[in-house]
Amino acid sequence: MTFVQRSVRLSGGRGWFTGRDLQAPPVPIGGEGNLAHRRPHRPSDLAAARREVAAATGTDATTWHLLQQVHGSDVAVVDPAVAPGKELRGVDAAVTAVPGRVLGVQAADCVPVLLFAPGAVGVAHAGRAGVLGGVIAAVVEALQAVAGTGPLQAVLGPAIGGCCYEVPPALHDAACEVLPGIGARTAWGTHSLDLPAAVRRQLTDLGVDVLGPPAPCTYDDEAYFSHRRDPGSGRQLGLVVRDAHGEVVA
Ligand SMILES: [Zn+2]
Repeated sequence: MTFVQRSVRLSGGRGWFTGRDLQAPPVPIGGEGNLAHRRPHRPSDLAAARREVAAATGTDATTWHLLQQVHGSDVAVVDPAVAPGKELRGVDAAVTAVPGRVLGVQAADCVPVLLFAPGAVGVAHAGRAGVLGGVIAAVVEALQAVAGTGPLQAVLGPAIGGCCYEVPPALHDAACEVLPGIGARTAWGTHSLDLPAAVRRQLTDLGVDVLGPPAPCTYDDEAYFSHRRDPGSGRQLGLVVRDAHGEVVA
């Protein structure tokens, strides 16, 4: 049994995306694999899920820096003065150049983004408001500030796709005025927004190399939490850590 669905190892760090484990024993409150303490849950289930993910990732869950997200574009910088495990409140992104610090973004349809530079790593939570409000540009700027020069890379986690993120036509049109190209159509032909495609384009325009194929659509794939499909759902995580020895892996 594992809630870790994908692992990445890039120059400067390692990262993981979790999901649900449909083979795991049912967890009636929060759901199998919920890792968010700010969602309804039973503490023993949350602790067990965190232990499982910590073991699978070789990290210590009590030291994770989780974002307490507000759909904004502020970025936290985790430096050595920040106590390990401190929740990062009121921000939708974080960066760190400190080896061994683990940053975590929680999502259930919004796009979890992991960022890698030779000397730093970052995370971002990119929902509609964040994408339109500039969280991607903000986290890239913060990453460059702590990492110095060097290639930047990103991996996008599971998120609701344009196939399923239906919005009213007026909202669609307003979003397209801010960010041309974010508009899409659902699989059933109505107006939608394609957040993963918009994030990918924003990153590429900023010179960040986005690696890997598109991640699964959370609404379609029950191996992930989806707020749209199940408004009471838990949250999956994207985790990233800077390698302790600054290893560079091709
Ligand atoms: Zn979909």
